[in-house]
Amino acid sequence: MSKDLFPTYRGTMEYFCLGCGKRFPTDKLYYTCPDCGGVFLLENLDFDNLKKTPGHRWQEIFDRRAATKRTAMRGIFRFYELMAPVLDEDDILYLGEGNTPIIRSSDRLIRETGIRTGYKNDGQNPSASFKDRGMACAFSYLRSLIRQNDWDQILTVCASTGDTSAAAALYASYAGEAIKSVVILPHGKVTPAQLSQPLGSGATVLEVPGVFDDCMKVVEHLADNYRVALLNSKNAWRILGQESYAFEIAQWFRWNMQGKCVFVPIGNAGNVTAIMAGFLKLYKLDIIDALPRIFGVQSHHADPVYRYYAVDDPKEREFHPVTVSPSVAQAAMIGNPVSFPRVKYYAEQFEEIGGHDAFQVLQVTEQQIMDSMIQANRNGHIACTQGGESFAGAKRAKELGLICDEEICILDSTAHHLKFVDFQNMYFNNAFPPEFEVAPDTSLSNKPHLIISPEEKDRLSPEDFTRATADKVVARLGLEHN
Ligand SMILES: *Cc1c(COP(=O)(O)O)cnc(C)c1O
Ligand SMILES: [Zn+2]
Repeated sequence: MSKDLFPTYRGTMEYFCLGCGKRFPTDKLYYTCPDCGGVFLLENLDFDNLKKTPGHRWQEIFDRRAATKRTAMRGIFRFYELMAPVLDEDDILYLGEGNTPIIRSSDRLIRETGIRTGYKNDGQNPSASFKDRGMACAFSYLRSLIRQNDWDQILTVCASTGDTSAAAALYASYAGEAIKSVVILPHGKVTPAQLSQPLGSGATVLEVPGVFDDCMKVVEHLADNYRVALLNSKNAWRILGQESYAFEIAQWFRWNMQGKCVFVPIGNAGNVTAIMAGFLKLYKLDIIDALPRIFGVQSHHADPVYRYYAVDDPKEREFHPVTVSPSVAQAAMIGNPVSFPRVKYYAEQFEEIGGHDAFQVLQVTEQQIMDSMIQANRNGHIACTQGGESFAGAKRAKELGLICDEEICILDSTAHHLKFVDFQNMYFNNAFPPEFEVAPDTSLSNKPHLIISPEEKDRLSPEDFTRATADKVVARLGLEHN
């Protein structure tokens, strides 16, 4: 084993404000810029030192770490030098996040759509969404702060459309000790599965009437006035952890990003930011020699980023928050994305290197999102509604002539199907409230059939019951004796 397998390199990280350009050391926990309130990026001032190692050598190091049994280096931190190379291995919190597979769509599905799709299943993370990537990084950093400052208590707070709180509560419950977790949710706007997650992890769950944006304002007020660690995606450490999604795509395709397109749902825009940032790092270190194309996808019910980029001339573009309408892509139902300045920052760099079509944003309908999710999952995928949105985006891109037949489309299923089964139920039962604007294809609806009545069961002996039930199954399926 070479000495690089376990990193000795340490960087120097700084917060860099996208609002005023000021820089701050990372020995303090900042959520936003104390001077102007802008969002931060984290920069490694010693990044250029990493260029002394050739790209192919980095590939080898990352590939070998993927097989290590040392857990701290096994998940998202196998890309240690590209992420938070200021942490000690002991501070790294690993709950099995990252390393999610890319599942090529079945031949049948590819024939149906004419698009070479595959899903990267980020629902296969421990709390069943990609949010675990960012939390693993943010909590590892928190642990290093607690150790260095000897803190005996820190309260972590987040507002959430469901998955952030599930992830925050999970990591907090594992870290324990000084860390206590509070999550603030929009009342009635998260799925039962998502609500059960922070409850099960023992977090304090507070509900607010309204939508996510209302919760966000409360949390921001807390951040400005009290000592709490905010874990929303304004927290730059989360963005850093989420870059691992890009690193993993590159690794999966043996570091060859030619002819690849990545489709990402946009809500608060942290994920799409992180994915662009991640690919740019790989490119700057010669680990990949081309950038993939990135397509952000938004629903017509929550599309501020789409609207911004729909104006062709960059000088004419203006950002306006939108008022959202109900969306099945509930985790992306955000009218005023906090990471928008970050998107702009990285999109510019992306376009400079990859050309004007390296980053684009597409709009899809609620109907297309639901149809796509149902179609994907009837073909062996495990897509959530946001994953349906990614797929709908790829179809839209094909329709608009933005992708060619040879390109491989990687669809981000940001969470596990099971978190969003309520929308599937509404689809199958044709039960969408009108404001969703979804009319299901009822030929796809599926429901359980009770094959024999409880009354008949009561009447029959156990043997006769088995026989009678089997006969009904045979009749129903039209089976023939062999
Ligand atoms: C948070 C989340 C999103 C939106 O990601 P952003 O980083 O806010 O753009 C999409 N899908 C799921 C499942 C999420 O949890
Ligand atoms: Zn600032």
